[in-house]
Amino acid sequence: MSARYAVIGHPVAHSKSPWIHAQFARATGQDMVYEAIEAPLDAFARTVDAFRTGDGRGANVTLPFKAQAFAYCRGASERAVAARAVNTLVLDRGEPWGDNTDGVGLVRDLEVNLAFPLSGRRVLVLGAGGAAQGVLQALQAAGVARLVVVNRTVERADALAARFPGVEACGYPGLAGRAFDVVVNATSAGLTGELPPFPTGAIGTLFAPGALAYDMVYGRETPFLAFARDAGVRTVDGSGMLVEQAAESFFVWRGVRPDTRAVLAALRPR
Ligand code: NAP
Repeated sequence: MSARYAVIGHPVAHSKSPWIHAQFARATGQDMVYEAIEAPLDAFARTVDAFRTGDGRGANVTLPFKAQAFAYCRGASERAVAARAVNTLVLDRGEPWGDNTDGVGLVRDLEVNLAFPLSGRRVLVLGAGGAAQGVLQALQAAGVARLVVVNRTVERADALAARFPGVEACGYPGLAGRAFDVVVNATSAGLTGELPPFPTGAIGTLFAPGALAYDMVYGRETPFLAFARDAGVRTVDGSGMLVEQAAESFFVWRGVRPDTRAVLAALRPR
């Protein structure tokens, strides 16, 4: 019987993960199936329990369950503990164990796929939700010179930064006059067609020469990407992060690292 894996979320029908993992399995000769499971909002643990009973060996976890997945696990990787969020469940090695591959996915996309080394860079992360908390440790580990988290609800940015010594927090007005080499949009604003509330005039100052604007949202134009393009800045969507976090999960489960280039070429518009 093929080894069974899944992505669990709500909603999840739109997820590209089943397609990505099917490509990885084919390319590496792994005998596995990977499905999308929508868990009711009040029944994440019950859904995972049923998946385990049905011989589920591992699962990706997406919105809005990453914190619940962390709570579900009896053990977790150091990077999942730092994020307090799990996007990768390992269910076939005793007690449920969790990992978080979002941070390494983002950093690998920036440094390898986009050839944009992070060491010494000034990095701004927009948002303080699950996506932001999943990537701060990996950005720090990549040797960035400065890491700032900005959030609409400033208290959330303050609370998040307090968990990562060296990370600064501010509200959007605090961005006035500051410049960054990389601006990562980890908000969900793009999903509702909104631009984060940058201060007046930020379009002329926010991006340092040669900067990169990265939106974790993938497969669609967002007001943030349009804003950055208007400023003459190189823009990238989150397809590469999606593919790279998937590849890392695949490696955690199967011990085989898939080549991501063909999959990414199919997803990321050039
Ligand atoms: P979340 O936990 O719900 O957090 C949402 C964040 O967006 C909060 O910081 C919120 O600010 C902010 N926000 C929402 N609307 C805003 C607006 N109009 N202006 C400014 N800030 C706004 O969501 P999440 O899990 O962090 O996910 C965020 C995005 O990242 C999603 O679109 C998700 O699809 C994407 N993502 C992509 C990948 C990938 O592999 N490419 C991986 C993970 C996540 P407040 O705190 O003030 O409400």
